Amino acid sequence: LRKMNNTSGYTYGNKVLKVFGERLHKFTKETDRVYRLQGDEFIVNSPGGKKKELVQLFQNVQNCCARMDVAVDGVRSFSVSAGIVRYPEDGDTYNMLLSNLEHCLEYAKEQKKDQVVAFSEKIAERHNRIGKIHDALMRSIHNDFEGFELYFQPILDSQTQEIVKCEALLRWKTPEIQDSAPYEFIKILEDSGGIREVGFWVMEDAVRHAAKWQREYGNISVSFNVSYLQLLDETFIEKLIAKTQEYDVDPGLIMVELTESCNAEDTSMLSRCFDYLRGMGFEIAMDDFGTEYASLGLLHDVSMDVLKIDQKFVRGLTEKENRADLAIIESVVDMCRQLAIRTVAEGIETEEIQNLVREIGVSYLQGYLYSRPVPAAEFEKMLAKKGI
Ligand code: C2E
Ligand code: MG
Ligand code: MG
Repeated sequence: LRKMNNTSGYTYGNKVLKVFGERLHKFTKETDRVYRLQGDEFIVNSPGGKKKELVQLFQNVQNCCARMDVAVDGVRSFSVSAGIVRYPEDGDTYNMLLSNLEHCLEYAKEQKKDQVVAFSEKIAERHNRIGKIHDALMRSIHNDFEGFELYFQPILDSQTQEIVKCEALLRWKTPEIQDSAPYEFIKILEDSGGIREVGFWVMEDAVRHAAKWQREYGNISVSFNVSYLQLLDETFIEKLIAKTQEYDVDPGLIMVELTESCNAEDTSMLSRCFDYLRGMGFEIAMDDFGTEYASLGLLHDVSMDVLKIDQKFVRGLTEKENRADLAIIESVVDMCRQLAIRTVAEGIETEEIQNLVREIGVSYLQGYLYSRPVPAAEFEKMLAKKGI
C-alpha cells in the first residue's frame, strides 16, 4: 500500500482499499464480519469458521488480487498474506490473538509469496527465537559491539587470478544463541533499526582494514554491505567520508555494496546518493543482481562501478540443459561492458564454473573455490603469500 500511495497517490490507494474491502466482503459468509484494522490490514471474524473454509476464502481473495480484479484505473496486481488464529486455543484475549496473528503474518511475508499461515507451536517458537536474538543483539551493541566481527572473502581479478579486492561480511557470536546466520540476525537488525549502529561499526571497521592493507599490501580494495535503511540516513555518507579521511585511505579502495533486493522505493534518492559517493571517489556495487523483477530498471536509473551477478545464476552454470543461466550471464556481462560497468561472479565453487565465467569475460571472481570468508588475520596471510 505504501508503494502504491507513493507512486500513484493516496486517492488511488484509498480506492484500491475500498474495492479490496468490498471483494473481501463478497467472499465471506453471512455470519462473518469484516473489519479494517489499520493501513492495508483487514480482519475477518468468522464464528465457527473451519480452517479449510478460511483457507478457501484466502485463495479466493488472493486469486482476485492476482487477477487484478481489485485494480482501479490501470493495470495493477498485488500479493496478499494472511494469518489464522483460533479463539480461545491461540489466545483468550484480544491482544493475545492479535499478537499471535501478527506472528503468523510476519512468517507468511517472510516466505515472500502469497500465503496463509495458521498459528502453531512452530510459529510461537520462531517468534521466541527472534525475540531472544533481538535482545542479545541489543546487549552486544551496548557492550561496545561485543561479539561482532568482520570476516573477509577474497575477490580475484579474473585475468591475473590475483587477490585485488575483498568483501567484508558480518559475523556475530554470543554464548546465549546457537549459530545465528547473517541472513537471520541482519534481518532482525534491519527490522529493529539496530542496523543503523551496527552499520556504522561495520563501515568503520572496513575502512580501518582498508587503510591497514593499503599501507601494508598496496592496492587491495575492501567492499562492505549496506542496507537501504542506512543510505536513508544522511549522516552515513558524512561519516564514511570522515572515517576515510581519519584513517587516511584512498576512497577508490572502498566499495559500498547495496543489495538489489533492498526494494528501493525512491530510486532518484538512490541515484543521487550513488553519484555523490562516486564523485568523492568511492566505488559502488549493486549486489545480488538479477534476483528482483526490476533489475534492468535499476541499471537504467542508477550509475554504478561494479555489478555482482547473483550466485543463483552462477551456481547452475555447468548443469546440462541449462541454457538460460548462460544466456543471462552472457548478456548481462555484455551489457555491462557497453556501460563500462565491471562484473563480479559470486558463488564460484568449481573450476569448471570458474573457466566458464572467465571465458564469458566476467571481471572478478568470488567464491568458496578460492576461500570462504575468513577472519582478518587469516586474510592477511593470503595477502602476504600473494595467493590462496
Ligand atoms: P552477500 O553480500 O551477497 O554476500 C555473499 C554471501 O555469499 C556471503 O554469505 C558469502 O559467505 C556467501 N558465499 C560466498 N561465496 C560462496 C560460494 O561459493 N558458495 C556459497 N554457497 N556461498 C558463498 P554471508 O556471509 O552468509 O552473508 C549473507 C548476506 O548477509 C550477504 O550477502 C549480505 O547481503 C548480508 N550481509 C553480510 N554482512 C553484512 C553487513 O555488514 N551489512 C549488511 N547490511 N548486510 C550484510
Ligand atoms: Mg555483498
Ligand atoms: Mg551477493
